[in-house]
Amino acid sequence: MDVRDGFIGTIGDTPLIKLRHASEATGCTILGKAEFLNPGGSVKDRAALAIVSDAERRGLLRPGGVIVEGTAGNTGIGLALVGRARGYRTVIVIPETQSQEKKDMLRLCGADLREVPAKPYRDPGNYVHVSHRLADELAASEPNGAIWANQFDNVANRQGHFETTGPEIWDQTGGHIDGFVAAVGTGGTLAGTAMALKQRKPTVKVALADPPGSALWHYYAKGELKAEGSSITEGIGQGRITANLADAPIDVAFQIPDSESVAVVFDLLEREGLCLGGSSGVNVAGAIRLARELGPGHTIVTILCDSGTRYMSKLFNPAFLREKDLPTPGWMK
Ligand code: PMP
Repeated sequence: MDVRDGFIGTIGDTPLIKLRHASEATGCTILGKAEFLNPGGSVKDRAALAIVSDAERRGLLRPGGVIVEGTAGNTGIGLALVGRARGYRTVIVIPETQSQEKKDMLRLCGADLREVPAKPYRDPGNYVHVSHRLADELAASEPNGAIWANQFDNVANRQGHFETTGPEIWDQTGGHIDGFVAAVGTGGTLAGTAMALKQRKPTVKVALADPPGSALWHYYAKGELKAEGSSITEGIGQGRITANLADAPIDVAFQIPDSESVAVVFDLLEREGLCLGGSSGVNVAGAIRLARELGPGHTIVTILCDSGTRYMSKLFNPAFLREKDLPTPGWMK
């Protein structure tokens, strides 16, 4: 029998998809790791499982306990579903600007959802700080205790990618890999995967693909954290060097404007039949840029983070695109 053991057993071992159009356009082999096929629908299922398993191993999470987290959505969905499978409740703090689809999905998954106004990290009202305070309160009041998942600075997150995503990519490519590209939310995916690949082949070129409004492109390209502009992409962009990102072996950084990433999202749907979210567009656009830098004949892997169905009301909504001054493909009107 070829059977996976429940929700938890279905996380990971995702296929690697050849992106034909991006590959033909560059003369390289561009491969997307299909993280949208995880059972909770995103790459963040891996981080959720890694963080919960680590807390269990350390004896911090007791049966019936509560997992508290601040999240743009996908980590919360992963935590809520891992929680369902393992017998924990979840309390999720989310900035109210995130897509309605993700909020509806979080409630459906059983998360106790607390929406807060979007505030910068330095503001005590920022969703990450609110979730931290809430976790401290619930740790004292809940009969079975509570933990703060702390995806940004809990390195169990990147360790999960170091132990799974990286080795899977290595095995699936048979070691024929020249570059790896990813955007950063927490940095867990990029750092953990890159460290695993570099350990096996130090010449693998690692690239950050960063949206406008994030401070990281400026940091890795010019040595100073500085954010300019804004982006419609969700779940990525960062204003600081998180613990997960610290010491990440990043060789090159690209800033990908929405005009470029959104065009890639539409191209992936139109020419490949892949309906993906905005961060996948940033990642594939970054892979195309790295391919152009390395030249034909190289193999580059990136992450297809989640599905476009999570963004129907934004990325795939002509009125929203017009409002943001982004082009709408003819077939969408
Ligand atoms: N894409 C999406 C859609 C996400 O939700 C996230 C996580 N916030 C990322 C990319 C980035 O992943 P990481 O947190 O591992 O950097």
